[in-house]
Amino acid sequence: MMRTTALVAIAVFGASLGVEGKQLGQIIKGIQVAQKANEVRDLAMTDAEEQELGTAVSERIRTRYGVVQDAAVHRYLALVGTALAQGSTRPALPWTFVVLDTDGVNAFAAPGGYVHITRGALALVKNEAELAGVLGHEIIHVTEKHTIKAIQKSKAVQMGAAETLSGSSSLMERAVTATYDNIVERGFGRAEENESDEMGVTLANKTGYAPNGLVGFLTTLKDRNKASTEKRGLFASHPEMQERLDRITRLIASKKLTATATVQPRYAKNISYKPVVVTVIAVVDPGAAGLAGGDTKAAEKKEEPKAEEPKKKGFGLGRMMPGGGGEKKSAQVTASGGARGVDPEKDSKGGSNPKVVPVKIVAAEVAAFKKEGGLP
Ligand SMILES: [Zn+2]
Repeated sequence: MMRTTALVAIAVFGASLGVEGKQLGQIIKGIQVAQKANEVRDLAMTDAEEQELGTAVSERIRTRYGVVQDAAVHRYLALVGTALAQGSTRPALPWTFVVLDTDGVNAFAAPGGYVHITRGALALVKNEAELAGVLGHEIIHVTEKHTIKAIQKSKAVQMGAAETLSGSSSLMERAVTATYDNIVERGFGRAEENESDEMGVTLANKTGYAPNGLVGFLTTLKDRNKASTEKRGLFASHPEMQERLDRITRLIASKKLTATATVQPRYAKNISYKPVVVTVIAVVDPGAAGLAGGDTKAAEKKEEPKAEEPKKKGFGLGRMMPGGGGEKKSAQVTASGGARGVDPEKDSKGGSNPKVVPVKIVAAEVAAFKKEGGLP
């Protein structure tokens, strides 16, 4: 009872603090409702609150990996991304597309319309349809709010809600850490990944892109693995990956997704990054200080409940690689870092500039871009 009173007090206090405080109050209220009902349920967050959380999470991602400070590359990425987002269920979000400055192959969605893709991933992508496949998958993580569900699942945040404000890290910080951790460190659950695959492929097709772009990209990832070391080779044929590819291929057939544009020349004209062999990707010690999250992240991990969903790791877009996520335990990673538990895709060294490269695009430019690429 006392605890409940304290929570209400915090929420009211938060409400008088302006935007950040308002959001803090909202998060606490949502967790409080969930706790009372003794269940995990959707947090009622406004788009503005979601946007603010996403901005903080994106900042952590950008601080960790750096941003390629290239306006032309960002403009191209934003045109493809916006063409897709326009056909999504949340076209009005302030969509922001970011190229992360690292050789690791990865993509991360953050709440409120942030989509990040690494230089290393763009280097492996062969055409615009493949890029659309990857971006479509990440856009769905945002539109279906997979990115904010991490908050109420987080034991650390729930504990934070039950605590007084005397803790060393604020609840908002915990919420940001929980979300970052879920997106970058652990990845989403299998159900969310499947949903993103299915709806993302459908979105790419709706925009006019050949729907097998995601399959093409994931196949390249798989083959890249096969070519590295023996152990990686073993994991390259990991059934989960093949199952995933088969499932997407079946979906394309059963839903009769028949768009055809691949737009290879335009992709080649705009993106010229060269892939780095996975064994020579420079990595940083995942436990090293200076990584986004720092001590807070370590604390969060300790407080995290033992996974009730056993197999969810190793299933994210960038986690198809052996050594990533849950496969880490069995695969002794022999990447450049050489260290056990290092995932070169996630633990790759990043650039030092976290600034977003701003891109302004008007609707007419997207329309012209689509027309030029032969998209309906
Ligand atoms: Zn995903």
